[in-house]
Order: sequence, then structure tokens, then C-alpha cells
Amino acid sequence: MRISACTNFLLLAPILCLLSCAEKKEEITPDGAAVIPADLVMINGGIYTVDADRNWAQAVAILDGVIMAVGDNSEIESMTGPETRTIDLAGKMALPGFHDAHVHPTMGGYALLGCDLEGLDSVGSIISKVTLCAGEADEGWLEGHAFDLGLFGQDGPHKSLLDAIDTKRPVVLWGSDGHNAWANSRALELVGITADTMDPALGVIERDPDGSPSGTLRETAQELVRVKLPALTLESNVEALRTGIRHLNSVGITSFIDAWVGLEDYQSYQVIDQSGDLTARVVTSLTYESGFAKHYGDDFEQVLASRGQYESERINHDSVKFFLDGVLEGETAALLEPYVGMHGHRGELILSPEQLDEAVTRFDSMGLQVHMHAIGDRAVRAGLDAIESARKQNGATDNRHHISHLQLIHVDDIERFAALETAANFQATWAYPDQWIMELNLPVVGEERVQGMYPVGSVKRAGGRIVGGSDWNVSSANPLEAMETAVRRQDALKETGPVLNQGERVGLAGMIDAYTINAAWLMHQEDSTGSIEIGKKADFVVLDRNLFEIPATEINEAQVSLTLLDGEVVFVGSGPVN
Ligand SMILES: [Zn+2]
Repeated sequence: MRISACTNFLLLAPILCLLSCAEKKEEITPDGAAVIPADLVMINGGIYTVDADRNWAQAVAILDGVIMAVGDNSEIESMTGPETRTIDLAGKMALPGFHDAHVHPTMGGYALLGCDLEGLDSVGSIISKVTLCAGEADEGWLEGHAFDLGLFGQDGPHKSLLDAIDTKRPVVLWGSDGHNAWANSRALELVGITADTMDPALGVIERDPDGSPSGTLRETAQELVRVKLPALTLESNVEALRTGIRHLNSVGITSFIDAWVGLEDYQSYQVIDQSGDLTARVVTSLTYESGFAKHYGDDFEQVLASRGQYESERINHDSVKFFLDGVLEGETAALLEPYVGMHGHRGELILSPEQLDEAVTRFDSMGLQVHMHAIGDRAVRAGLDAIESARKQNGATDNRHHISHLQLIHVDDIERFAALETAANFQATWAYPDQWIMELNLPVVGEERVQGMYPVGSVKRAGGRIVGGSDWNVSSANPLEAMETAVRRQDALKETGPVLNQGERVGLAGMIDAYTINAAWLMHQEDSTGSIEIGKKADFVVLDRNLFEIPATEINEAQVSLTLLDGEVVFVGSGPVN
């Protein structure tokens, strides 16, 4: 009671607190009013508030996890008392805590706890790591996570590379894109995938010329292996999720959208929340029934109907995820014009436009947010069409739908994001000409479509709301890496390099918006997070340098010194502030 009364009051009059806050030690001002000193103040900073005028401030005061004042040092220091903790930012930059609008924290956590292949940039380094992970054991599945498919050609990696490792264990490596698995011969044998095995619906078993499986399993073909693995337990899911969330806090993230959940994830979040250490605000997107349902056997409708019992102040499950298509690598993304040299093949939509329209209209009428995976321009159009159709039937709602990935958007659809109030959820770390694009995508879509990829600048100029998502552990969770890539359209980890359509570059301020206030809006949190303003939650990230005062090539090198949620420190980096 005390907290809410105090919080409400703070919205109206930030400093003075009357009877309801009596337990706090009051001080008396010269005019006789009772002043509650701040719990915490941060001074001497470069505080980028992301308020409506994008003001800067020097200091903030926090009481009961809420921002009670934003100003200069002298204003804020007058709000301290004997018990107030002071953090001297020593000129460092503070921003609203980052919001990641598309991330997979449990998968990322499993990768961190297991055989993590993220970021390994040669076949040799992957094989060395897997050899190390295989160790001495001679039985039991070995899973590796997040290998880079871009290192392999159009046919994907071959089982013989894994067979050469001196182990008897069945090995399966999951691609960082979530759409491709790589298995050794022992794994294929155990699962029973042979030359006679048919491709499953919406899946591909890559094959050698003699028809035998080559080791690469695409889309739903991955499930042939996944179902044979030891079942994950609630305990292991919770450990992975905790690990994932800690990692997100370490890169300054305080709010995120978990982009692919099932009932087990509802349960994991609840366990962590009830233990009092859920250190982020979360929206989750329950996967709609399709070839990519996260957990086979769960009844989607039942799980959806049960979501309320798993929600809390920090957890909101009012979002449903659709996969509209696959990916360009593997030619499963749905295109308006055919793939190059593939006899008119345009990829398939996972749901027909009619099915999609009907489902989106229904969820929209239920007050749910729809979160869509769309890579190809035909999938993006189908997604926008479905939202338009829901609009026509339901009228305007406040559900704040969004489309993630957006590798190709037809030029006629660019303006529709603004018109339909649909957020454009870009994974900006992908927006440079890497091996995926140049070696896997270019041959199948051609130069013109490559130049149009990830049109962040065009959507923004057309008034669309850009939100930022990492898709970790598909790619790095670090928002600064995504911001730098969006600003430069070059590999953020290199000083120079080829540029992917410089006309699509956007400014740093726009990308900070994408990772703060815009994503806060998407999460229905813009009244409480996303900017540093009186009455909002005290969620902050403190960086070791001011992003606006360094060359763009250094943005991703900035280090997180501190992350705070509700005024509590949830991550301390190396070389922390005092
Ligand atoms: Zn994803």
C-alpha cells in the first residue's frame, strides 16, 4: 500500500509526500513540508532521457523504485538524506534500460550453459569446439548451439565433418538461425533418417546424390531429431532462462519480448518470478499452431486460455506468434517474385492468406497482440494484409501488432507500417553484407533484392515505428551492436567493410528510440518505462562512454557499467561506477 500510494502521489508532486509515506524518514523543509529523501540518487552523469524533447540531465532521484526527479546535481542533491545511496556517474552516459523486442532467452541460456558455438567464424573453430565438448564420454547426445550456417554453401554442412570427430556420441548442432540442424551419421542412424525417409511437410532433408541424408536438416525436418532428445525438464528450463535473463541484463536490457514460447515457458517464468528474482519485464509470444509450434502436444487453445494464471506485474502473456514463412537460406521464405534459377519457385506461406486473416482477426478481437515472423516480401505483405483485414472487421484496437525480421519489404508496402500502426521489428545486426547475404542469399534473390534488404531507413522516413530486437541467440544480444550496424550498415565488429545500401542508414538517436521508447510502446509499457521521466520506473543502463561523442565505429565497444531495474542494481560491469 505504501508503495502504490507513494507512487501515485509522485506522479502529481514528485518530492513532497504526506501521511501515506510516514514510515519513511521525513525531513522538514524551510516552509514546514515533509520531504521524503530519495533512496538512491545518481549524479554527475550524461543522462539521455528519451523524453519528448530528448532532453539531457545531470542527475536523477529515485524513491521506491520510481523516478522522483530528473535535473541537475544541485536539485537532486537537495533530495538526499542520511540513508540515501549516491552513485557518482563520473560523466558516464545513462539511458532508459534497453528493451529487446524479439529474443529467445531460454534458448540463449541453454547455449551459454552448453556447447555454445555462437560467433565462431570458421568451420575449423566449430569442429575444435565440438571436439572439446564431446570430451571423453562415449555415449549420450551432444548438442551444440548457434553454429553459423553462413560458413557453408547452398547445400548446408555435411555429416562427414562431424563424423571425423573421434567420438561415438550422436551429435546434433543447431544453427544460429533456428531453421537448420546439422547431424552426424550416428545421430541420423539413431533417429532413423535414411535415404528412404520422406521430407516432412514444410521441411527438407538435404541429400547426397545417392539420396542418403547429407546431415543438414531444414525447418520441420529438425524436429525428427528434436523429438528423440532427452526431454527438457522444468528445472533445466528454469536454469537456462535465469542464465539467459542474466545475460540480457549484462547488455543493459531490462524489458524484452520472448518471441517463441509454449506452456513450459509460462511455467519457467512463473517459477523465477515467484522466487523474487525475475530481473526484467517480459511480454511473451505464444506460438500459434503451425509446423513451428514450440511444444508438440500442448493444446494451443488451452494454453492460451490459461495464460492469466501465469501473469504478474512483470509478466504479460497477451501476445501470439505466427511464423508466416521460413528463411531465404533454404529458399523457404515466401517471395512475390520467384527465386533466381528455380523454375518459378517463390517459397510457401505457412498459412494461406485466408487462414491468416481469420486467425489475426480473431486474436485481435480478443485483445491480443500479434507478433509475426516474416522474411520474404510476400510474407510481409500477407502479414500487413491480415492486420488490415482485422482492422476492417474489428475497428481500431490498441493491440500493437508487429512484424519481425523484414528482410525484404516490397516498396508498395513500406508506407503501410505507419498506416496500420504496425511496428517494424528489425534485427539490425543482420543489416550488412555478411556471408549469409553475399554467399547464400545473393545467388538466389539477385543484386536488386539484396540492395533492398532490411529497409530500416525507408520505413522510418515513411513514419513507421521502428523497434529493435536481437533475436538472440540467433545473433548477439548486445543492442549497441545492432545500433551501430543500423547506423553504418557495415559489420559492427570491423572498422571498415562493404556497406549494405547506405540509403537505409538511420541515425543513432532513432536507434536508441527503437530500443527504448518505441519498444516500450510495443510492450504497452510506455507509461512506465522507455524514458527517464518523473513517475516512471527506475530502469536504467549506464554506459562507460557517451554514444553521441564517439565515432560510430565505436558504438558497440561501449561497455555496460550498471543495469538497474526498479532502482535495484541487476548487473554490475567491469570498472563499475562508484
Ligand atoms: Zn526469433
